Amino acid sequence: MSDIRNVIIIGSGPAGYTAGLYTARAMLEPLMFSGYASGGQLMLTSDVENFPGYPQGITGPEMMMHLREQAERFGCEVIDKNVASVDFSSRPFKVTVESEVFQSHAIIVCTGAEAIWLNAENEEAQKGRGISTCATCDGAFFRDEDVLVIGGGDSAMEEATFLTRFASKVTILNRRDVFRASTIMYDRAAANPKIEIKPFRQIKKWLSNEQGLTGAVIEDPRDGSTEEINATGAFIAIGHKPITKFLENQIETDDEGYIVHKEHTMTSISGVFAAGDVVDTRYRQAITAAGMGCQAAIDCERWLEDNVH
Ligand SMILES: Cc1cc2nc3c(=O)[nH]c(=O)nc-3n(C[C@H](O)[C@H](O)[C@H](O)COP(=O)(O)OP(=O)(O)OC[C@H]3O[C@@H](n4cnc5c(N)ncnc54)[C@H](O)[C@@H]3O)c2cc1C
Repeated sequence: MSDIRNVIIIGSGPAGYTAGLYTARAMLEPLMFSGYASGGQLMLTSDVENFPGYPQGITGPEMMMHLREQAERFGCEVIDKNVASVDFSSRPFKVTVESEVFQSHAIIVCTGAEAIWLNAENEEAQKGRGISTCATCDGAFFRDEDVLVIGGGDSAMEEATFLTRFASKVTILNRRDVFRASTIMYDRAAANPKIEIKPFRQIKKWLSNEQGLTGAVIEDPRDGSTEEINATGAFIAIGHKPITKFLENQIETDDEGYIVHKEHTMTSISGVFAAGDVVDTRYRQAITAAGMGCQAAIDCERWLEDNVH
């Protein structure tokens, strides 16, 4: 069993590194487990143009290197390993990593969320080369182009409506003729002259050339008939999955598994804080994750002052 740390941060996306920076500057000597995807979701993207401070934009991996360097400069210790399980039943809390147990007075969970992909043929190769899961992030790259939005919920309607600011045409494809979207969101999309809604259509295969995406073979699930559709961009909007399974229900989550804040950024367990996409069902941006990482660090620092030091 290790010495008792002040704070262990789980996850190394924008939320984790910002929490690392703030807790390190507060002299708490944080320990971070960066996890199976060190650097988080932005390691999967090329250009980030909406994080303040980079007037020319920056690639996701470069930006995450900067965030890591900044946190490490002030003494955040980063271990590139995954947390297997946690025990929050008593304090100090316990965090198991490759059968080694680490103890800490406080924990900040920043494990993010994963977009759900379709896993259609040729999808893997086109991720970030025309296929995206975030219109706010990547919509502006498709000015005057035809794009697809896949999904039938509120997110799909919202993304499609947002994309009409840039794209010349947006086609929404949904597997069924029943849409999970609220009536108001559906009606708004349906009334938009740039949007066409096609029910009973699913992606069978993505089409591409050296430049990137060129379209898709789409299938009618009722009879298996297929057709080709042209598009240089596609946005998959069928949901996100928060990464909370390793917590084994020790913290209160909502029905979809997102961690619930109880008091500011503190979870249902006193001394355990959470930040970023693992909490956020609405904004899901690097800057909002970083902002929440800062909040969690400040809340954690104050909690340690009141409860431990
Ligand atoms: C393709 C793509 C492009 C995007 N483009 C933009 C953009 O241009 N601008 C923008 O603002 N946002 C963009 N986003 C959204 C942005 O990436 C997320 O909102 C942001 O990364 C969330 O940060 P986070 O710190 O909450 O979590 P993440 O970035 O998801 O990081 C989660 C971290 O948790 C770690 N982890 C998970 N489980 C464990 C475990 N058991 N033990 C230890 N660590 C663990 C992972 O290794 C990872 O480091 C994009 C997202 C994607 C997928």
